[in-house]
Amino acid sequence: MAKQVVTRTYTASIRNHQQVSDDLDSLGFAASKLWNVGRWVCDRVWSEIGHIPGHNELTTYLKSHERYDDLHSQSSQRVLQKLAEAFNGWYGKRRNGDTRANPPKYRKHGDDHPRSTVTFKAAGFKLDTNYERVRLSKGSNLKAYWSDFILCEYQTRPDVDLSTVETVQQVRAVWTGDEWELHFVCKVEIEVSEAPGEKTVGVDLGINNFAALAYEEGHSELYPLNCLKQDDYYFSKRLSQCDDSDSEQATRLNQKNSARRTHYFHTLSKHIVQRCVDEGVGTIVVGDLSGIREDGETDESKKWGKHGNLDLHSWAFDRFTSMLAYKAEMDGITVKQVSERDTSKSCSCCGRKRKANRVERGLYVCDECETVANADVNGAENIRQKVSPNPHGEDRSNGWLAQPSTFLFDKETGAFAPQEHVTS
Ligand SMILES: [Zn+2]
Repeated sequence: MAKQVVTRTYTASIRNHQQVSDDLDSLGFAASKLWNVGRWVCDRVWSEIGHIPGHNELTTYLKSHERYDDLHSQSSQRVLQKLAEAFNGWYGKRRNGDTRANPPKYRKHGDDHPRSTVTFKAAGFKLDTNYERVRLSKGSNLKAYWSDFILCEYQTRPDVDLSTVETVQQVRAVWTGDEWELHFVCKVEIEVSEAPGEKTVGVDLGINNFAALAYEEGHSELYPLNCLKQDDYYFSKRLSQCDDSDSEQATRLNQKNSARRTHYFHTLSKHIVQRCVDEGVGTIVVGDLSGIREDGETDESKKWGKHGNLDLHSWAFDRFTSMLAYKAEMDGITVKQVSERDTSKSCSCCGRKRKANRVERGLYVCDECETVANADVNGAENIRQKVSPNPHGEDRSNGWLAQPSTFLFDKETGAFAPQEHVTS
């Protein structure tokens, strides 16, 4: 066992909710108003000089704005940082060919503002773990009436003790839809296992096979989307029978679908980490989908949200990647993200890169060295090689690239099993 410092977020309820909810409401509304002011400034700057301001520029424009002083300066900064991140994320998706991605919206419903999350950084909160209380700073505009801070009495889960963590870096006040809760972002020292080995595995995430894995030793695995596709078909059919897409029934169906997806992601990430332990893998290399995907033509099969395909967006892959990293960390395995640039175009055996590679029925065929590979496995192997390149000129047998073992989610056992053993 080794010790390692990691980030954990702990949720806590607020015991004196009645006393503090009005104050928290006014901060939550203030955060939405500042967001909207920032959003409007972005529009203005864009129409005048064709550029969307970054986080620092926005802060410079707005720090003398009246709304900026509704919150503690660090809290206001965080709102503008989030806005800049949202714009960046939208840009990234547009570059990846996601034409349905929308720029960040205004936070307004008619004349009402929603309660946005308010973040308090080091100078904005004071924690008292003896009495389980935390003082949250208000902005100077909201201080006048009563006091300059909100005193929340919190309650964490019984197994969490904030007095034992290394540091509490941030406190977030989050509106759940019914009430406010607090999220403590902490640095925590945990016991992790020694890495199971030094080998690497490459993971290519996509919408045909959710994951394709290429192991350094020369074998490969596929995780098709069988059950997510069945779910999607089932839920979209049920949703189309709803009278109103905002109805309670539709909301319930959407929640159920998303819970099943979360369960699938948890089970898959756990399974992959276990496979890595079994195979002596110390590093998982995952393609980073947020960067530019490919130059030139887009790979049809990987286009996001194409009609008739599963409605999986890049955030689903981000979410899966962070689950995988979280679980891998406990077993001493590192997860590295690398750019996916050219990984679907290049031959993982000879490195030959072609504009028009031959991808037919999921196969990658190299004209140069005549390698035939499963296209997703070829991508995964290229991703793996970005961290652990193969020695040049090494004569490796590459038959495994075309013969992945396939694992399916077995609804009866709730686990992944090799295709031939799945009963449902
Ligand atoms: Zn080749």
